[in-house]
Amino acid sequence: MEFGLTEDQEMLRASVRKYAEAELLPNYQRWDVTGEFPDQEFMRKMIDMGLLNLRLPPEYGGQGTSFVDCGIICEEIGRADHNIRYIISNAIHLGEMASAMAPELREEWIPRIANGEMMSLAFTEPRGGADAGGIITKAVRDGDDYVISGEKTSITFCSVSKVVFVSARTGGAGPRGLSFFCVPTDLPGVKAVPFERMGQRLDRAGSFFFDDVRVPARNMIGEENTGFIWAMTIIGYNRCFVPLACIGAAQKSLEETIEYVKQREVMGKPLSKWQAVATELATEATKLEAARMLCYKALSLKDQGLRHDAESSMAKWWGVKVANEALYTCMRLHGHYGWAKSFPFEQRLRDCLGMESADGPREVHHGIIARDLLGRQHAPF
Ligand SMILES: Cc1cc2nc3c(=O)[nH]c(=O)nc-3n(C[C@H](O)[C@H](O)[C@H](O)COP(=O)(O)OP(=O)(O)OC[C@H]3O[C@@H](n4cnc5c(N)ncnc54)[C@H](O)[C@@H]3O)c2cc1C
Repeated sequence: MEFGLTEDQEMLRASVRKYAEAELLPNYQRWDVTGEFPDQEFMRKMIDMGLLNLRLPPEYGGQGTSFVDCGIICEEIGRADHNIRYIISNAIHLGEMASAMAPELREEWIPRIANGEMMSLAFTEPRGGADAGGIITKAVRDGDDYVISGEKTSITFCSVSKVVFVSARTGGAGPRGLSFFCVPTDLPGVKAVPFERMGQRLDRAGSFFFDDVRVPARNMIGEENTGFIWAMTIIGYNRCFVPLACIGAAQKSLEETIEYVKQREVMGKPLSKWQAVATELATEATKLEAARMLCYKALSLKDQGLRHDAESSMAKWWGVKVANEALYTCMRLHGHYGWAKSFPFEQRLRDCLGMESADGPREVHHGIIARDLLGRQHAPF
């Protein structure tokens, strides 16, 4: 059993941290206020850092980065700008789907995404996202095409994406009747409608409407009615990237708070000398470390090709929860400064709170873990 990072992983962590502190941290609060989207020069630097081709196929410059190493990158990016993690993980998802994509699709979309164009993944529908197998958007075969109709909502990068990967019903009820399609967003019948959310303003979320959108049959990812398997393949490891980005944001806040409480005097002594404050810091540090270990354990299982569904569910619900608790503590220990817009704490908390829902709410993860503990026959679902 080995808990430390290798020398190479330490170097990876250090180089991503250096990049993130120079390129992301200075923009984090500004982008939230101005609503700007990262420009081409910013994207070029991400590409030069090798952050968009981590797991693309080798012929597209892919690096074969392990999932644990991708997790390290997500955690480090999260320290500086939690929202940028989405751009990196989407490029990772594309790499995972590549083997199931038709050659024409691969040749068109992999270079474009690797060059900084945005993509979206669309599972959630207005009737609910927790039940990803129960969607009603449908895709009907018509000659050499499929015709897609339905609505997806709460979709990250909705209004800036050039392509969206959409789950749609091609078969009977339940998860075994779903397929996954690559849909360029400029096709007739595709409409993107943005909306505001409490946090993650950079992610340009919104709803996609598909009004009889015709796509060639080759735009299907993998075989018909295997869409849920594809979705779960991606979601499985992403359930570790999501909390790691939150843990990164929380860890950064904890480090800033540790410095703050050493300086700030209250009732004649530094805050750090009050036992209640020291206990809070120690508690949050312990919870974050435990959550981090859960994430890397699940990613390590994924790297070894082992089952990791219960482990990644543990990482997701626990990691996001404790990161948000730590962020709240850090904001509180900064007193009125913590609440001020000039400090990043309120934004980090707003950004990370959404992660309670994204990639499934905690109740769904409790159900997955319970299924592992109890067996499917005795579990809630
Ligand atoms: C920041 C952010 C980014 C997102 N990005 C995307 C994206 O890019 N693509 C995409 O497809 N979706 C995205 N989503 C949507 C996300 O996947 C859904 O929010 C999630 O799947 C839950 O669906 P829902 O919000 O419709 O909640 P519902 O399914 O309506 O559930 C509501 C609440 O009911 C409870 N609940 C649900 N199921 C159970 C159960 N079995 N037992 C007990 N209680 C339960 C939970 O408390 C849950 O929060 C994003 C969401 C957020 C917040």
